[in-house]
Amino acid sequence: MTDTKRNGLLIDYEYCTGCFACQVACCQEHGWEAPLTGIKVHEIVQDLPKGKAYLSFVPMPTELCVLCPKRIKKGLAPACVTHCMAACMHFGPVSELGKALEKKPRQVLWAPR
Ligand code: SF4
Ligand code: SF4
Repeated sequence: MTDTKRNGLLIDYEYCTGCFACQVACCQEHGWEAPLTGIKVHEIVQDLPKGKAYLSFVPMPTELCVLCPKRIKKGLAPACVTHCMAACMHFGPVSELGKALEKKPRQVLWAPR
């Protein structure tokens, strides 16, 4: 049976600018000091022929992500979602985020244990 109450994050990394605001916001919200963080922005460079390259930024939640329970209780979005100026991070039930993932590729769907 599907647990419809299980929440997670959906990150549309196609539109991620690599600004690191989500990572900074998470550290400030939870008091983590580098290198600890609830979300880590990975920079992936793939070299192509003729001196070209693909550059992608893929923010990935870590084992320290607790989905900001205090903020959720107050009716706020998680700190990382709130501070993403590209609006490419979404919080909600995994069942709903999964439907959004089906409609668009190049996204990461994540849920804690
Ligand atoms: S949901 Fe909260 S704990 Fe998880 S990465 Fe975002 S800011 Fe950090
Ligand atoms: S705040 Fe948004 S745009 Fe900036 S690195 Fe994080 S996911 Fe990407």
